Amino acid sequence: MSMRVARSMSKTVPHVIIAGAGIGGLTAALALLKAGIDCDVYEQASELREVGAGLQLSPNGTRVLFGLGLEPDVRSEGVETGDKVVRLWSTGQTWSLFDPTVAKPAERFGSPMYLMHRGDLHAMLVNAVRRQKPDAIKLNARCVDFDQDDSGIRLKLEDGRQVTGDVLIGADGLHSRIRQQLFGPATPKFTGIMAWRGLAPVERLPEHLRRPMATQWLGPNGHVTCYPVRRGELVNMVGEVERDDWRLESWVEPGSHEECRKDFPGWHRDLLDIIESIDSLYKWGLFLREPLPKWCVGRVSLLGDSCHAMLPFLGQGANMAIEDGMVLARCIQKYGADPVAALQRYEAARRERTTDVVRRSANMAATFHNDALLDSEAGAKYISSHWDPDKIRNRYDTIYYYDATSVEI
Ligand SMILES: Cc1cc2nc3c(=O)[nH]c(=O)nc-3n(C[C@H](O)[C@H](O)[C@H](O)COP(=O)(O)OP(=O)(O)OC[C@H]3O[C@@H](n4cnc5c(N)ncnc54)[C@H](O)[C@@H]3O)c2cc1C
Repeated sequence: MSMRVARSMSKTVPHVIIAGAGIGGLTAALALLKAGIDCDVYEQASELREVGAGLQLSPNGTRVLFGLGLEPDVRSEGVETGDKVVRLWSTGQTWSLFDPTVAKPAERFGSPMYLMHRGDLHAMLVNAVRRQKPDAIKLNARCVDFDQDDSGIRLKLEDGRQVTGDVLIGADGLHSRIRQQLFGPATPKFTGIMAWRGLAPVERLPEHLRRPMATQWLGPNGHVTCYPVRRGELVNMVGEVERDDWRLESWVEPGSHEECRKDFPGWHRDLLDIIESIDSLYKWGLFLREPLPKWCVGRVSLLGDSCHAMLPFLGQGANMAIEDGMVLARCIQKYGADPVAALQRYEAARRERTTDVVRRSANMAATFHNDALLDSEAGAKYISSHWDPDKIRNRYDTIYYYDATSVEI
C-alpha cells in the first residue's frame, strides 16, 4: 500500500472513530464506551446547541436507551404516551391505535413509547458519552476525507488535522461526506411533499389538546402529527402537505403562519388552534433516497441517515439510528479483533431491516394522503379499514418488538 496508516496490528480491541455527533453517532459512542471500546466522535458543529423539534421514541428505541442506562433521563425529559390516535381532518372523529384500556404500549411491547424534544435526547446522549469519556466528542471537526489500508484508517478534517484509528463510522447524517467518498453522491428525489414544523407552548392550548399521546390528523392532501414533548411543556407539530414548490431540505428554514394556514383550509379547529399557538414555523422539503445496497468498504461503514435516510411517516429515523448504534457496538465487541469482519456482521444484521423500514415509510404516503378522505363519511370508513387492529399490527409489530440489545449478530 502506498499510504500506510500507522496502527498496531496486534490490537484485539479496536479504536473506533465516528464522524458526526448526532443521535446515531452518540448512541454508538455510548454503547462502545460502555462496552470498554475506546472511541472518539468528530462533529462539524462548533457548539452542541439545540436544533430541531420533536422525535417519537418507539419501544425499539427506548429498549436500547434504557439498556444504556438512560431510563431516568428519558423518563424525566420525555412524555410517555399511552396511545396513538388518528383523527379525521374535517370532523375530528378519533380512532385509537393501541387501546390503552387493553394494554399500555409498555406492557404490549415490553418497553414504553416516549415523545421527546430532539434537543433533550441529544443533550442526554452528550452528557452520557462525556460521563464515560470526558473528551470523546471533538467539536469544530468537519470530516472531509479518509484513507484506509490493512492496518487502519486515517480521517482528514477540514482544518488540515488528521486522526487515525482502526475503524471509521460515517454517522454524518443526510448529506454524509463519508458515504459520498465510499459510494459517490446520493441522488435524492423530491417527494412532492413538504412539512411544516413548529412547537406550541402547552399553556396556550385548551385542556383536551394537552393529553400525553401522539395524534395523527389525516386529510386528502396531507397529514399532521402532534404530540407533547419536554415534560409536556411544548406540543410538537409536523404537518406534511402535497406541494410541489418547496424543495429545500432544511431543519431551519422559516415560514409564515399565513402560508401555513393556506395549506390546511377547512381542517378541524383543534388543529388550527395548535398552528396558531406556534411562534416559529419551519418548512422542510421531503426527499427520498434509495437505501444503499452496501454499507461497508474495509474498515469503514455507515450508520443512521447516512445509509438509510427515511421519510418520517413511521417515526423511525431516530429509532433506526439508535438501533444501529447498539448493534454496531455489539458487533465490534464480539468480532473486533477483526474489524473488517465486525463491520460486515454489523451490515448483515442491519441492512435488510432498515431497507424494509425505508420502503415501508415511503409507502405510507399513499395510505396517509388518500382522496377517500375528502368526504367525511367515506373518510371515516377509509380510516376504520386502514387502521383496523390487523393492519396496525402489520404496520408496527415487527418494528416495535425488535430488540437491538439481543438480536442475533
Ligand atoms: C440539526 C438537526 C435537527 C433535526 N431535527 C429533527 C426533528 O426535529 N425531528 C426529527 O424527527 N428529526 C430531526 N433531525 C433528524 C434526526 O436527528 C435524524 O433523522 C435521526 O436521528 C438519525 O440520526 P443520525 O445520527 O443519522 O443523523 P443526525 O442526528 O442528523 O446527525 C448527523 C450529525 O453529523 C454531523 N455532521 C454532518 N456532516 C458532518 C461532517 N462532514 N463532519 C462532522 N460532522 C458532520 C451533523 O452536524 C450532525 O450532528 C434533525 C437532524 C439535525 C442534524
